[in-house]
Amino acid sequence: MNFMNDTIAAISTPPGLGAISIVRLSGADAITAANAHFKGTDLTKVASNTINYGHFLADDQEIIDEVMVSVMRAPKTYTKEDLVEINCHGGPYVTQKVLSTVLGSAVRLAEPGEFTKRAFLNGRIDLSEAEAVMDLINSKTNLQERAAVKIVDGALSKMVKDLREEMIKVIANAEVNIDYPEYDEEELTREKMALVTKSVRQKLRSVIDYSESGQVLKTGVKTAIIGAPNVGKSSLLNMLYRGERAIVTEIPGTTRDTLEEEITIGQLVLDLVDTAGIHQTEDLIEKLGIEKSHEMIQLADLVLLVFDGSREMTPEEQELLEATKNKKRIIIVNKSDLAPVLDLSVDHINISALNGTGFNELKEQIESLFLSGIENSSSATLLANARQLGLLKSTNESLTSVLTGLAEEMPLDLVLIDFNEAWKSLGEIIGENAPDELVNELFSRFCLGK
Ligand code: GDP
Ligand code: ZN
Repeated sequence: MNFMNDTIAAISTPPGLGAISIVRLSGADAITAANAHFKGTDLTKVASNTINYGHFLADDQEIIDEVMVSVMRAPKTYTKEDLVEINCHGGPYVTQKVLSTVLGSAVRLAEPGEFTKRAFLNGRIDLSEAEAVMDLINSKTNLQERAAVKIVDGALSKMVKDLREEMIKVIANAEVNIDYPEYDEEELTREKMALVTKSVRQKLRSVIDYSESGQVLKTGVKTAIIGAPNVGKSSLLNMLYRGERAIVTEIPGTTRDTLEEEITIGQLVLDLVDTAGIHQTEDLIEKLGIEKSHEMIQLADLVLLVFDGSREMTPEEQELLEATKNKKRIIIVNKSDLAPVLDLSVDHINISALNGTGFNELKEQIESLFLSGIENSSSATLLANARQLGLLKSTNESLTSVLTGLAEEMPLDLVLIDFNEAWKSLGEIIGENAPDELVNELFSRFCLGK
């Protein structure tokens, strides 16, 4: 595969209108290709890391835009290749025209994530850092952003590399013992292996624990809003969307019918389970019983169970109360602006979705269900993503087998198999021996121009 010899280009700023837009080129021909359409200083002769003023010309020498061109020469660039950034005057038309002008025999359009992929393939960043670049781009909350920055900065890679360095010494010793049993230092190696295994496990444990409870920060909390017809589920949803913004008085007919799937509440992203279902249950609850609700409850990490405080509970609602009792749930008694009729013995919060009261309490409860321990945790803790977490766990399992093997006095070559396995899966976190499919899949999830 020699695609790395290609020079690639893409618009690296988000689509739409902006003060400036950037067309980025990376590869051996980046500078000459940009220079071919540039009227100003000769870009092939300028020093690295300079910004050059001039005009960008179409094939017919017509001026497309007044531009500033940054020239960064390999290897000290984002991709480790020659990198050129053409800063144009915003506007989708101009930017697109600049891009299509540089594309040609020597330059092709970049695939999504290809700039970052090159940074990875050229060894400037490892896989965990590349993943974090994507997480950073997609961050929706401050906590997500902070967690990603730490990994972009290399904190996870450093931990992994340090642990592996300790482990490789043990592997080397064990191999000597296996090859030359007459050296008879095997006892020492076994002791050292047990020590290293325990210390590695301890370090992994804290990242695993933290990452498990923190996965909701990355993936969002799957949330189901459940309740009988007319209790105010749609109104609650609207209240959540409005969030901390000024409370709007309900204008009849303004309840949304098409709803986005995500709501950001403080540091959490709520991922709504089946928003269409919120409305469907209104009929289904009568026709099909609470089957649909059960399905939603099953899928959810969090159930918001809504009651109408201005009336008594129905038997169906009693059933919902029962069906959710083992779930993380918040029981919401709505319509607190009306005269209270419902008498509920379980913990609940009173809200009025109509005028927005109770929002803060609801937010606090949601946060305390999912963030307790996360936000205050030491800054040294790392939040691994699902792929990394899986590998951390299998590393941990292999290490458990190592300890069992050592305790049971198993032959060293057998114990070493598990130890090697742990060393390997730890390496996969930073992309050591990462299969092509994994790398391709990962970078294809990036957006264009990154
Ligand atoms: P859903 O069927 O559970 O989605 O309920 P809706 O959100 O569509 O609300 C049903 C009715 O209750 C509508 O007429 C709402 O205006 C009304 N409603 C919702 N929340 C409140 C509230 O907090 N107070 C009062 N008084 N009425 C509400
Ligand atoms: Zn509704």
